[in-house]
Amino acid sequence: MAKRFSLLLLSIILISGVFLPQGKSSAAAGSITISTDFVNVRGGPGLSYPLVKIAKRGEKYPIVQENNDWIQIQLSFGKTGWVVNWLVTKDEESKTVAPSSSASNQTSAGVVNGDTLNVRSEPSSSSPVIGKLINGTAVTIFSKQNSWMEIGFSNLKGWVNSEFIDSQTGPTKDIPKKDSNSVNGTVTANSLSVRSSPSLNSTIVGTVNMGQTFTILEERNNWAKIEYKSGSFGWIAGWYLEKTTAVSPSGQAVKESTVTILHNGTNIRTGPNVQSAVALRANAGDTFSVIRIVNDWYELKLENGEIGYAAGWIVSINGTNAQIEKSGPKEYLKNKTIVLDPGHGGADNGTTGVTGTLEKELTLRTAQLLYDKLSAAGAHVYLTRNNDSYLPLPSRVNAASSINADAFISLHYDSNLDRSIRGMTGYYYYSYQKSLADTLFASTIGQTKLNSRGVRFGDFHVIRENSQKAVLMELGYLSNPQEEITLNSSTFQENAASGLFDGLARYFKVN
Ligand SMILES: [Zn+2]
Repeated sequence: MAKRFSLLLLSIILISGVFLPQGKSSAAAGSITISTDFVNVRGGPGLSYPLVKIAKRGEKYPIVQENNDWIQIQLSFGKTGWVVNWLVTKDEESKTVAPSSSASNQTSAGVVNGDTLNVRSEPSSSSPVIGKLINGTAVTIFSKQNSWMEIGFSNLKGWVNSEFIDSQTGPTKDIPKKDSNSVNGTVTANSLSVRSSPSLNSTIVGTVNMGQTFTILEERNNWAKIEYKSGSFGWIAGWYLEKTTAVSPSGQAVKESTVTILHNGTNIRTGPNVQSAVALRANAGDTFSVIRIVNDWYELKLENGEIGYAAGWIVSINGTNAQIEKSGPKEYLKNKTIVLDPGHGGADNGTTGVTGTLEKELTLRTAQLLYDKLSAAGAHVYLTRNNDSYLPLPSRVNAASSINADAFISLHYDSNLDRSIRGMTGYYYYSYQKSLADTLFASTIGQTKLNSRGVRFGDFHVIRENSQKAVLMELGYLSNPQEEITLNSSTFQENAASGLFDGLARYFKVN
């Protein structure tokens, strides 16, 4: 079935600040196969849950249930764990394909009974979410396939889990067609290009200006078709339009569009850049209405009525082309080969913090967080170690050259007899490594707010003997009692990983 999108449907849900229900999960049958080299299996459906085990490429596990982007899998000995769904492949038998009672063309009416309900492009929980419906929304039911229902709302059609729809008896003539309403949009940008088709890549055919109002003739992927001058038609970006008849046929409030947070602990900032303060931390599945797009950032309406900003590459925009993603870090990280080297391990603890933090444990934690982020962005990521084992320095370096890595990052935490010393230091050995060190350092300092001790030449084996772009990052001092507490916090770990992530993306953007 072709994907169909609709701004209306997407928006329906979104009373601003409505969050996805945290506990909403769906039972599923079938199994998954690990489709990347390593996948972290965690204790719960989020990156902040402890690591249970590492699953390897090709391993197969039965599915227990699904929760947003996470799948709970059955491990041995009655244990279970959670993996992110983008690093695994669902096995064929778990996809619901067999049509059962879909022969009928009869439609009937239904009402959403869950808090929010994902509408998908296909009758499978692995197909893309093209919209969301809130509790109480009346829908048209077109067909059923096993536990899936093909429903329509306004001009959008998609598949939902039938468990969350209460079927009603009788015909559906009380649901009006969208065409019976005309919706106007007023341009909110100073000057807005009109394009030949609903895509930023299409030809510019005209311009409209702030304050001009047009009847929206058609909507597709958050683009609106308008008659921009008499007899001339074109498409404008829907996120620069303020709907002046903001009521959909069924009376639900309509917003422009919404975004869904992809990762737990995502920073929502007070300004559209990573230097701005963090207004709040959102979790995977949280949804916000989008006000507009500022460079690579989404301007969001927060629950308290204030405005926040989320980096475009760490959220998914519901039912649209994810415009920001195209110019965001993901594009630059995709297919890059990156080796992460968590310093020390096994008998080599590295340094030990004032209250006993082991450097080898903290470096692994940071590396695994970064691993998850980079893998999700489509990079090929290798960890020189993924458990508490010792690996000789030459082996760490060989890992990088044998796979011709685009970047090698050795992660460490520092120590000094002078306990007052704190902050981050970046090291390179060869001049060809310096720009990577500079970029990673600046980005990580920006997000962690560690003191800056600068980027320097450093005579370390893993960068000196490395033919690749290799750097060594000392992410703060475990010998400083306050800094040790900071470095152990989830907030710091998340910021360090996302600082390194953004730095890598920025580095690859220009290199
Ligand atoms: Zn170290």
